[in-house]
Amino acid sequence: MIAWNLPVLMYHDIVSNGFDLSCSGREMSDACLLREDMFSRHVKEIARLDMDTLGFREVGLRRKSSSPVVVTFDDGMLGNYEFAAPVLAELRMRGIFFVSTGLIDSPGYMSWSNLEDLTRCGMEVHSHGISHRPLRSASSSVIRSELEGSKKILEDRLGVGVCGFSWPHGSYSRRGLDIALELGYRVICTSDVKTNAPDAIEGSSCVLGRVDVTSNMGLRDFSLLLEGDRSNWASLRLRWGVKHLVKRCIGERAYRFLYRRYYGVRRVDLVLDS
Ligand SMILES: [Zn+2]
Repeated sequence: MIAWNLPVLMYHDIVSNGFDLSCSGREMSDACLLREDMFSRHVKEIARLDMDTLGFREVGLRRKSSSPVVVTFDDGMLGNYEFAAPVLAELRMRGIFFVSTGLIDSPGYMSWSNLEDLTRCGMEVHSHGISHRPLRSASSSVIRSELEGSKKILEDRLGVGVCGFSWPHGSYSRRGLDIALELGYRVICTSDVKTNAPDAIEGSSCVLGRVDVTSNMGLRDFSLLLEGDRSNWASLRLRWGVKHLVKRCIGERAYRFLYRRYYGVRRVDLVLDS
């Protein structure tokens, strides 16, 4: 089967099978937390479909894949290292880990040593900014400092090129995209549910849409997503469209406030200095 779309999966935190979701101090909704066994089932499904988990760094070196997928993680939570990476590594798959550099070594987040390990075992670490602040309405100088500063420190500490960026909160603007490209980011990930050309990351630069893989997505829906089922995609896109419209109507700040209230989340912003 030749893919008509490059599915780009977006995970957040992976937790142990015994993790108590009712515990206090959550920083994101339960839907963003996937138990280890569910994640393992996802990875086995990717293997069953014989899909290639693509990275961003080896463009031009790999054969064109007829069944590509990109597996990304946002935020740099510790569960990415403890639970997700070992499952991926066992099946020789690649994960893309977007980290906010100001949160590295904070409680619950990966350390520099964790990131070095990921890099050593073939995973890719890219930027999710410094402070995890939304950047759509930020000034050019703030956008530039978030994108440039995070890229530089990751490259200096890990000794690898950082060419991928994921917008915190999925919040970006045309101006932000221009700055990202100018700073040398080549693969820019949004949280928009949009289809991507199967060979999108083979080009000199691209902006990728992603699908948020949540704990309330059943395994059947996950398979349909990977297989590129068009009605499944239409439904995912419709749901995202409604959410996007609400966000646009009431503003990002009000949307995050309502999100916190609805999910009972203590702090969803994860912003160090807003
Ligand atoms: Zn994030």
